[in-house]
Amino acid sequence: MNDKPNSIEARDIAYHLHPYTNAKKHLEAGPLVIDRGEGIYVYDNNGKQYIEAMAGLWSVGVGFNEKRLVKAATQQMEKLPYYHTFTHKSHGPVIELSEKLIGMAPVPMSKAFFTNSGSEAIDTALKLIWYRSNALGKHEKKKIIVRNRAYHGVTIAGACLTSLPANHKSFDLIVPNVLRMTAPHHWREAMPGESEEEFATRLAKELEDTILAEGPETVAAFFGEPVQGAGGVVVPPATYWQKVQEVLRKYDILLVADEVICGFGRTGTMFGSITYGIEPDIMVMSKQLSSSYLPASALMINEKVFQPIMEESDRIGTLGHGYTASGHPVVAAVALENLKIIEERDLVGNAAAMGKRLLDGLNALADHPLVGEVRGVGLIAAVELVTDKASKKALETPGALGALVNAHLQEAGVISRAMTDAMAFCPPLIITAAEVDDLVARLKSGLDKALAALP
Ligand code: PLP
Repeated sequence: MNDKPNSIEARDIAYHLHPYTNAKKHLEAGPLVIDRGEGIYVYDNNGKQYIEAMAGLWSVGVGFNEKRLVKAATQQMEKLPYYHTFTHKSHGPVIELSEKLIGMAPVPMSKAFFTNSGSEAIDTALKLIWYRSNALGKHEKKKIIVRNRAYHGVTIAGACLTSLPANHKSFDLIVPNVLRMTAPHHWREAMPGESEEEFATRLAKELEDTILAEGPETVAAFFGEPVQGAGGVVVPPATYWQKVQEVLRKYDILLVADEVICGFGRTGTMFGSITYGIEPDIMVMSKQLSSSYLPASALMINEKVFQPIMEESDRIGTLGHGYTASGHPVVAAVALENLKIIEERDLVGNAAAMGKRLLDGLNALADHPLVGEVRGVGLIAAVELVTDKASKKALETPGALGALVNAHLQEAGVISRAMTDAMAFCPPLIITAAEVDDLVARLKSGLDKALAALP
């Protein structure tokens, strides 16, 4: 890098601090500079093509060159490039998007609130839950339950609810009273011989025991991704969500479905909540809401959540929360067009069909010496890498095997993501059968090369 001080790579090293990157390693390794996108592919600045097998960050549902989104943004920019939604102001696109989302909700929802990132939406959900508890005079009802391996973002509140070590270490996070349950990962967490249903029963009991030990009157909400994403694509065991919901209902604890990854088709139905029969009080959405063409996120709250908040805002004089770009008109216009495309082209149906093909293809690799578990639902999947199938162990340094396979995949023209030693696959919803087969073939060759390169 250093021999070309004005190269784009050298300038990135010089001036850009990257999220989720080893900042020291970056000084040597430099960036992979992506220059353009087309369908499920992106191209780097040397013209090399990659299958974007993560749809960016689990988000570019409609692929990388959807002209209709460009047009929707341009038209709205020309008409009203910005307006806010504070102090009773509104505009057409945000009203239309609110109505659209409430209409799409799998259970009756009352209002939509707009934010700019998944983390902000999670933050907002937490703040509204505390606000509601205070509104109800339940000042003790503040504790939040999450699961191990949870990912709910990186703002201070979001990171506190996230259960991944790198999001906590050295950050001095300050949200108290977060209770962490066992991750619903049967392959890793179940006892020998325990069926999925028995495992789910045990996790529901752990939840109930925790609530009783803490005092149900102190527990406000349970946050959960229908399928845990960044924690390793953890598909819940059979009957898990039914059993968890029974416990939450019994103790009057709100359920927040973090649909940031699952929402808008990823699991083969419109929402993860539909796939798993989840009836949330609050739904948090982002990513495929706008296919990430512009930053967009939102939450929906039901009437049970809205009513006390409405009363409290009246007592105080305002709901003292919101962002300059909450409900941004250009973002809302792009999101509306994006949702129209998802519906018109039945990308949810395609996710179900192509997801099955992807999972069949990955399952065909189950005998490969480096494959421990294949898991997935719809178009989100992971291959857990091991070097010893019996002990389910990978290389001594956690993440080293994932990094090795990832490097070979990148070489083979696949952008995936190693979550420790699980390789995630979450391609755009528009992927075709031939493209799925190509992805699986490239993965097989990457695994073979990684196996040959093992120390
Ligand atoms: N919640 C879930 C389930 C996510 O996967 C993510 C991001 O990947 C977030 C929240 C945070 O979203 P953002 O990165 O937009 O803040």
